[in-house]
Amino acid sequence: MPTILTMSTTEIWQERASKVKPNGNIFIDGKSIPSASGKTLEDFSPVLNRSIANIAAGDSEDVNKAVASAKRAFDSGIWSQMNPRDKKAIMLRWAELLNQHRDELALLETLDVGKPISDSLAVDTRNSARVIQWYAETIDKTYDEIAPAPRNALAMVTREPLGVIGAIVPWNYPMSITSWKLGPALAMGNSIVIKPAENSSLTAIRMAELAIEAGLPEGVFNVVPGLGAEAGQALAKHMDVAKIAFTGSGPTGRKMLQYAAESNMKQVSLELGGKSPQVVLSDCTNLKLAAETIGWAIYYNAGQTCNAGSRIIVEKSVKEELFSHLKEFAKNFKVGDPLNPETMMGPIVSKVQRDRVNSYLELIGQNNEEVVFGGEKATGDDLYIQPTLISNVSNTSRLAQEEIFGPVLVAIEAKDSDEALKLANQTEYGLAASVWTDNVSKAHNFARALRAGTVWINTFDALDVITPFGGFGASGTGRDKSLHALDAYSALKTTWVDLS
Ligand code: NAD
Repeated sequence: MPTILTMSTTEIWQERASKVKPNGNIFIDGKSIPSASGKTLEDFSPVLNRSIANIAAGDSEDVNKAVASAKRAFDSGIWSQMNPRDKKAIMLRWAELLNQHRDELALLETLDVGKPISDSLAVDTRNSARVIQWYAETIDKTYDEIAPAPRNALAMVTREPLGVIGAIVPWNYPMSITSWKLGPALAMGNSIVIKPAENSSLTAIRMAELAIEAGLPEGVFNVVPGLGAEAGQALAKHMDVAKIAFTGSGPTGRKMLQYAAESNMKQVSLELGGKSPQVVLSDCTNLKLAAETIGWAIYYNAGQTCNAGSRIIVEKSVKEELFSHLKEFAKNFKVGDPLNPETMMGPIVSKVQRDRVNSYLELIGQNNEEVVFGGEKATGDDLYIQPTLISNVSNTSRLAQEEIFGPVLVAIEAKDSDEALKLANQTEYGLAASVWTDNVSKAHNFARALRAGTVWINTFDALDVITPFGGFGASGTGRDKSLHALDAYSALKTTWVDLS
């Protein structure tokens, strides 16, 4: 759970927000430039309810330039063959700069996405700097292998960078997810072109400027903002891009696989959505702690989290007590201006997204579902949807199976722990899951049996760069973070030397 930082007051943040003049340009070859077409997109802030910047609307011409620059840098060896010690020093300096600019980056992130400033400061910006620092540290500590070949041979297995990486990222955690791609891709010596989401491009652009300031050679890290169907598609179909690292929705993820097949069969990694179950078994005695953690797991970032714990599976005997603690939690969950350091939940990112959440709220009652709290739609200019809990939900309904991406928690009753496990796994997704129990055997059996990339026992959202993150099934392929991510940005090469 994030600590509330009170470094500045609401008034100070509002004053800073009113003066902010973000750079929305494309960043290629170490330079900030407008799009080739001159077209821009309005960057709507859900916090200020107005546009805060013109974002360059990159298209295939800009993508071609960015990829050419990245390829030039890669082929020159200026980064891909740099002494590991020097590479590490540059990335560490960059992490330091990200830390020094935390206030500025946090404000941009909050204005773009609507997340509370205290979260942008304590979580998004801090963790992104830590991810860059952590991967910097791997650069001179990762060894290659010597295979157990016969005495008259030397067989070496080395990791080689792939070349130009294209990274396409979503709007819900722009800086964090961008850093999950940048860290391992650059540590392995690749060059990279980032295509941020159209409504949250600002921190990626600023990260690129700071990378140059830290000494990253020009062309190694480029940013092309723009529409998915234009800039994104051009990047994913580019013949000189060796890999697409994608995070976003399932339908767009499918397109990435198609684009790869239609172009150069580039590698594709997909980090997609989820409908993560939070299972509460009847032997869980600390239901208050369970309720508080479950509440954070869904209402954090207004539910706009891929691994949000959006589906409670609860045994009947503890349901009422759990709900009463959740009610109490929601009552104290401070919803409001994200620029107030005490705010815990801000608005939904955009009207389009809010209307999507509304469309799910309209389903309540069609199959005897009941509102425990919340459940009201937001209309007009209002982007705030209150924390919501819906009970009596069937696990096969749309409310229980589809990603709502808002502060909406649905509860499904299970008659015993066997049924709870069955219900938890009855989903096309498999990103994360949690189980609440005092019984060690049950905890381990659930952990084994749950089909999810991350399983939490008596907690949720315990995440760090040290462990991999990604999903089973429709939640995607591949893993971000940890040392395993280095494999995702490199290819193994065997060199066999005849010594006889
Ligand atoms: P999205 O798929 O609409 O967009 C993601 C990115 O893809 C954006 O940059 C967008 O511009 C780009 N894009 C869209 N259409 C494209 C196309 N035809 N060609 C190329 N690029 C295209 O997703 P979103 O709404 O921005 O993000 C929300 C989704 O992301 C949710 O489903 C959420 O669960 C998922 N997500 C997953 C993770 C994870 O790590 N598993 C993390 C965060 C978000």
